[in-house]
Amino acid sequence: MKIFKFGGASTKDAENVKNVVSVINQTGEKDLVVVVSAMGKITNALEEVVNDYFDDNGNIKDSLRIVYDFHFEILKGLFQSSSHSSFGELDKSFKELKHFLETNKSKNHAFVYDQVVSYGEIISSTIISAYFSEIGIKNTWLDVRQCIKTDANYRDANVDWEKTQQRILERVSAQGITVTQGFLGAENTNNFTTTLGREGSDYTAAIFAYCLNAENVTIWKDVPGVLNADPRYFTKTQLYNNISYREAIELAFYGASVIHPKTLQPLQRKEIPLFVKSFLNPTAPGTCVGKGVLLDPFTSSFILKKDQVLISLSSLDFSFMMENNIGDVFKLLHEYKMKVNLIQNSAISFSVCVDNRFGNLEPLLAKLRENFSVKWNENVSLYTIRHFKTAEVKALAENKNVLLKQESKETVQLVIKE
Ligand code: ADP
Ligand code: ASP
Ligand code: MG
Repeated sequence: MKIFKFGGASTKDAENVKNVVSVINQTGEKDLVVVVSAMGKITNALEEVVNDYFDDNGNIKDSLRIVYDFHFEILKGLFQSSSHSSFGELDKSFKELKHFLETNKSKNHAFVYDQVVSYGEIISSTIISAYFSEIGIKNTWLDVRQCIKTDANYRDANVDWEKTQQRILERVSAQGITVTQGFLGAENTNNFTTTLGREGSDYTAAIFAYCLNAENVTIWKDVPGVLNADPRYFTKTQLYNNISYREAIELAFYGASVIHPKTLQPLQRKEIPLFVKSFLNPTAPGTCVGKGVLLDPFTSSFILKKDQVLISLSSLDFSFMMENNIGDVFKLLHEYKMKVNLIQNSAISFSVCVDNRFGNLEPLLAKLRENFSVKWNENVSLYTIRHFKTAEVKALAENKNVLLKQESKETVQLVIKE
């Protein structure tokens, strides 16, 4: 049994959905869990729906229409007859979604977010499963919310491993093809939909692999594998043939967005290999993440995290920044769901570089100002170089406004105001 994961790029239009079949056929695999995420950039489009809902700005009809039309176009490209049941399924999902928006009473943004955004995965998996059936690939559509049980930490839910494992083993056949959704779960008490964090479908693939003791996992991407830098921002990138779990965890943690950071740990625990391959060239070897060699070829990797905030705190009375007040800062960062990517401290000051997410920056800053003198810089970039050479750091920093630099044996990080 193997796990395949297809992300948004691999299903962004009808041609790409057809290519998914070609990928599966070329690999010849028969016993698969196929985890799919929302098609193209539909999660972003559904985020707009949520924004319009809360802003009550009269735009929600338009933002829903964009999501509907996008999927309708894909259906037209996949199914000859407009009476195919998939059109009715799409309408049914939209009726449900609209009904939720009309009747919902909750003001909890994260809760509403998950109930709405999850339609991306529900619709994509329904379409893909129907298309497989249409062309004769027998498959079972699985509602992942019956399997992946979580807490109620909406938008970033934590998996209840015991219940999840039990349910996956009960509900997923080791034979044949199962098509299911990435990114989604359901909370334990009322079964409301939860999500596992943006880009979380890779993680779903790892959860299935762990629970089913899968032979391996392949995530199919629009790049040849894990490169030593994101080709969107760096030229002359190199492909890694092999990476250790440890190194891959570090790369993902620092922001190499080709693998979701939570993906590696469950795989590493059972030593299940992870392949990162191109859906455009499925027979090429891609990258294997596994046990053993750290990096092959051993070349530095460059990671860029955009849209960061650098927050610098000092005590109001020039007293030292010690365990107690740093502890308070961390409690607040946790409470406001700020993901910390870099920390630096001196006797009287403390700096953190965090992801600017969930719109929590303003309230956090207000809270910090109660006890500290606070300075901050928005829209900064965090560059990380693993296994750096001095000349590479110099070249990267040249003519740039470096706000902070931190260096350890393996890793250098620069916070840059671009
Ligand atoms: P999907 O959502 O379709 O599964 P993603 O878009 O999340 O795929 O991930 C693929 C993208 O990750 C690539 O197009 C590339 O721009 C980006 N990326 C970032 N870092 C790396 C890296 N080190 N190697 C390869 N791709 C990377
Ligand atoms: N569709 C979700 C997102 O865009 C999950 C994923 O793609 O992995 O974040
Ligand atoms: Mg993605």
